[in-house]
Amino acid sequence: MMTIAADRRSVLTMGLAAGAALATPQLMMRAAQAKAPSSQVGNPGFNRFRLGAFEITAINDGTRPGDGIHTIFGVDRDEAEVSALLEENFLPADRFVNSFTPALVNTGSDLVLFDTGLGAGAREGGLGQLRARLEASGYTPGDVTIVVLTHFHGDHIGGLMEGGEPAFPNARYVTGQAEYDFWTADERQSGPTENAARGVQANVVPLAEKTTFIGDGDAVIPGVTGMLAAGHTPGHMIFHLESEGRRLLLTADTSNHYVASLRRPDWHVSFDMDKEAGAATSTRVFDMVAAERIPFLGYHMPFPAVGFIEKLDVGYRFVPASYQFLL
Ligand SMILES: [Zn+2]
Repeated sequence: MMTIAADRRSVLTMGLAAGAALATPQLMMRAAQAKAPSSQVGNPGFNRFRLGAFEITAINDGTRPGDGIHTIFGVDRDEAEVSALLEENFLPADRFVNSFTPALVNTGSDLVLFDTGLGAGAREGGLGQLRARLEASGYTPGDVTIVVLTHFHGDHIGGLMEGGEPAFPNARYVTGQAEYDFWTADERQSGPTENAARGVQANVVPLAEKTTFIGDGDAVIPGVTGMLAAGHTPGHMIFHLESEGRRLLLTADTSNHYVASLRRPDWHVSFDMDKEAGAATSTRVFDMVAAERIPFLGYHMPFPAVGFIEKLDVGYRFVPASYQFLL
């Protein structure tokens, strides 16, 4: 505590010294010239890098601040335990920001979009930005040749339709057979799954004729392989990309908070339909990411959502990517 107080004092002292320096007439004039209204231009919302011959673009569909993190992450733990972990990692104890990151992969012969964000219905709230940001990144929705769906939650299938028409008019679709079978079964159309199943009926089912259904280990196209990672949903899939020996794992919703889920993969997450399976899958997938030292892109990781995993005695540490893709 003494050290912190001393540091605060020294910061204050420095601030006063800087203020005194500004009081000289020349410096004051320079400060006046620098005055400008705040820019209304936000961050570009996409991040592009190369993976061998593939071009990868992480696109931020939006960010959503929320309360009550303990009601989502670590629902089987004491609230104080969740708060303590977050504060230890320089995060607020209760509030958090969720972000949504579809990935666009140009292989040279296909432009593949992995998941579609929340869509038009969320735009008023500042989300559903995939479409605008895909265009800002130099492509049009008509350029997308394949849309891959990792699973059928609304934040992944919401952008499939635009004004009642397919949002990516020239695309075919690829998704897991198990996921499709689960959500389209009669018993899902009422009860706790009713809302989500209605979204599937509106957005996914009309595209079924243009969809290829795959299972664990199946290729989407050369260099892109699907892997079943069930738990979050019964047919949740992740995708392994490989080009010229460079690899990237799109982990979708295997882990949904870079601290609360990755540091404590055994904690239950309310978003996981099967909480035990979700925890087991998370451990299996991130053990692999850590052991093979490959980068991953997690749909709900902090934007640009790409990083590495260090295995700790308990859980994992998220190491955001820096210049690895520039070399
Ligand atoms: Zn999600």
